[in-house]
Amino acid sequence: MSKTLQTLRGMHDVLPAQTLGWSQLESVLADTARRYGYQEIRMPLVEHTALFARGIGEVTDIVEKEMYSFIDRNGDAITLRPEGTASCVRACLEHGLIHNQQRKLWYIGPMFRHERPQKGRYRQFHQFGVEAFGVNGAELDVELMLMAARIWQQLGITEVELQINTLGSVAARAAHRAVLIAYLQAHREALDDEARARLETNPLRILDSKNPAVQAIVADAPALGDYLDAADQENFAEVQALLTAAGIPFVVNPRLVRGLDYYNRTVFEWVTHALGAQGTICAGGRYDGLVSQLGGKATPAAGFALGLERLIELCDKPENDSTADIYVLWTDPASKAAALNAADALRNALPSQRVQCALDGGGLKNQLRRADRSGAAFTVHVEAPRQTVPHWTIKALRAEPTAPSITDTSMSPTEAIAWLAQAIGARPSAC
Ligand code: ATP
Ligand code: MG
Repeated sequence: MSKTLQTLRGMHDVLPAQTLGWSQLESVLADTARRYGYQEIRMPLVEHTALFARGIGEVTDIVEKEMYSFIDRNGDAITLRPEGTASCVRACLEHGLIHNQQRKLWYIGPMFRHERPQKGRYRQFHQFGVEAFGVNGAELDVELMLMAARIWQQLGITEVELQINTLGSVAARAAHRAVLIAYLQAHREALDDEARARLETNPLRILDSKNPAVQAIVADAPALGDYLDAADQENFAEVQALLTAAGIPFVVNPRLVRGLDYYNRTVFEWVTHALGAQGTICAGGRYDGLVSQLGGKATPAAGFALGLERLIELCDKPENDSTADIYVLWTDPASKAAALNAADALRNALPSQRVQCALDGGGLKNQLRRADRSGAAFTVHVEAPRQTVPHWTIKALRAEPTAPSITDTSMSPTEAIAWLAQAIGARPSAC
């Protein structure tokens, strides 16, 4: 017998019992974005490799070691998107969406990174991202954090902390970079191979190292904050003042640098301790240089991305395998057509309800068992002896204290629909 095939490592099916939780989460996200004036955009899952190399930065974890890159049949170098920001900027430039105008966009979908799979870290995962273009002010940075806070509130997530930092301007980063390299050179022996390799290329990333030995060195390294110019300092002070005025608690984390090259000024992460090591559920910041780096006119921009898998885990969404609210039964083959019609009449009359008709008939006991397994609250047994008006017998499978009592007698379709409408109106809504 041939071996059955399985998913690739780090890639997962979302099974039927889980998809309701996923779509509820997705609709909270989409609805929140809409309420802040964001429009949805859908980009391809595959782009030219050059987009990510140029957009994210050659010496980042993502581009150096995490991308799913291929040469396709035409010899083109292509990559499964590891994040959405670079693609979103590419789409905006290609279609003139941000030419002399503000634009706020959101997207949701799978991202691909060849990482070591572990809890909360997968090779195909899903992000919801928002990107806003053409706004310079700190109020945008803070509005993004408010939007994320509203999402936590909608989802009932409470144990989450907002950490913020500023990376300053390009000039401030250059001044800091020089002293940081000198400091780290002086401690070269104590660094690990990865940190040594980053010394010349991307020293700021060493601050992000997860190695405790490197972290010890980094703890005394010159802080970027000391090299900020007056405008950067003022901007960061304003971000903090606006957050305080909005009543959003935060902590300043001077070590927060973010793994992608394109950020400047405000960066932020929402972190929870409820998920173990992979505690960052949302990350973002300002990236004023990216649009021009990808060939557009200099355009201020900011955004964030959040990981859906980590959120699902945090929300503890109950699994739901039910497929029906009302289940239509028939036992006499002569009633088959009437049963199919009855199910459709119920779908017309009660659009909020999921209605299933017993398929493949079978004995009443069997059908009732299938109805029960479907999670239906009511069964409707349709009987339509030849030449007579069909009559329906309703049975409540799950007794509701508020439901009107049931007569065992059969009813006309009109009476039965009216009865069900009343009974359903009395029940709490399905989700
Ligand atoms: P980390 O430091 O955890 O690797 P990152 O800086 O690479 O995160 P971003 O690129 O900023 O993460 O992505 C934003 C969010 O997307 C993360 O906060 C996380 O919730 C989610 N995310 C990133 N990579 C993965 C992954 N491999 N699996 C699941 N979720 C992920
Ligand atoms: Mg990462």
